[in-house]
Amino acid sequence: MQIPLVDLKAQYASIKPEVDEAIQRVLNHTQFILGKEVAEFEAAFAEYLGVKGVVGLASGTAALQLALLACGVRPGDEVITSAFTFMATAEAICQTGARPVFVDIDPRTYTLDPNCVEAAITPHTRAIMPVHLYGQPADMPALAEIAQRRRLWLIEDAAQAHGAEVQGQRCGGLGHLACFSFYPGKNLGAYGDAGAVSGNDETLLAKVRKLRDHGRTAKYEHDEIGYGERLDALQAAVLRVKLRHLEDWTEARRRHARHYTELLETARVITPHEAAGARHVYHIYAIRTERRDDLLKALQAQGIGAGIHYPVPLHRQPAFLKQGYERVSLPVTEQAAREVLSLPLYPELMDEQISRVVAVIKQWSSEAQLTGTGNDRS
Ligand SMILES: *Cc1c(COP(=O)(O)O)cnc(C)c1O
Repeated sequence: MQIPLVDLKAQYASIKPEVDEAIQRVLNHTQFILGKEVAEFEAAFAEYLGVKGVVGLASGTAALQLALLACGVRPGDEVITSAFTFMATAEAICQTGARPVFVDIDPRTYTLDPNCVEAAITPHTRAIMPVHLYGQPADMPALAEIAQRRRLWLIEDAAQAHGAEVQGQRCGGLGHLACFSFYPGKNLGAYGDAGAVSGNDETLLAKVRKLRDHGRTAKYEHDEIGYGERLDALQAAVLRVKLRHLEDWTEARRRHARHYTELLETARVITPHEAAGARHVYHIYAIRTERRDDLLKALQAQGIGAGIHYPVPLHRQPAFLKQGYERVSLPVTEQAAREVLSLPLYPELMDEQISRVVAVIKQWSSEAQLTGTGNDRS
């Protein structure tokens, strides 16, 4: 039995008539750029998030870059962020000419450690960019307090956190702006590249709106140098269909995660931690073991698609080593990068598949014990 890490075909099969109808509607009206489809998705997603506004964009990477620019981040500035994330988080900071300052993470949630953030603030710091990694919200109350006291922008990288909550409030409205990705494999995924910025500050949202469309204020009037980073209507139409199912899919993800965690209680691996008051939406279900590479091989040998998010922290990427980051030391991040392992998780995953994955892990774990090589903390 092959079990993939994610299965986009199973999801399409479950909503095919709705999606096909939405795509056909766009082909019939041929308004492919912005227009009604994009505006309607933006309004629906804003309502879902409980925020004043959403601006649809061409990707999550564009969302990060335009959010930073809207906040006035510019060359010479520093932006504090995590190195335990996808490249785009820090890349967007670099694209504005600012410098990412990587700080360490909490060992249980893998999100920014507020104490490390506070210690890294300098007169050049302009913004803090927490990442809600794997769908678990960062410690937003603590980060918001720091941002307010030190007069810094707080911009959420919510690319993995559609529907995640902190004390009943959805990620997407917890800082000055937030950035979502609708990359196909994300919890809310388009059928191509797409992203959005969300927030409650109309002035900032208007800036993002102008930047995404060539700095335009009227058809042939350009107020400033902008970008071509609009969300396209076909993607918006697909996203609007999928948004109606997001809560059901999120509940399914959370149910599967609980199921894994219960079954793995007796295996010698560390299961995900859920911070108090947080709704984790399990974009990724990551376990942890000191013998990660060995377990990965055991799972792959049985046809189970496991993954590593992320094997190389950003301060250890060649792109950043070239820029003088070799002296940066982040022990918690580096250890997490050596030990995390993502198991198959998607809404359509079946209980038998979860049992099968767990059986392979338990078999591996008992063999490791017999050979005396297992030395995990648990
Ligand atoms: C996916 C992702 C991005 C980038 O989004 P794209 O839509 O692929 O450009 C940024 N940050 C994080 C944490 C992501 O997971």
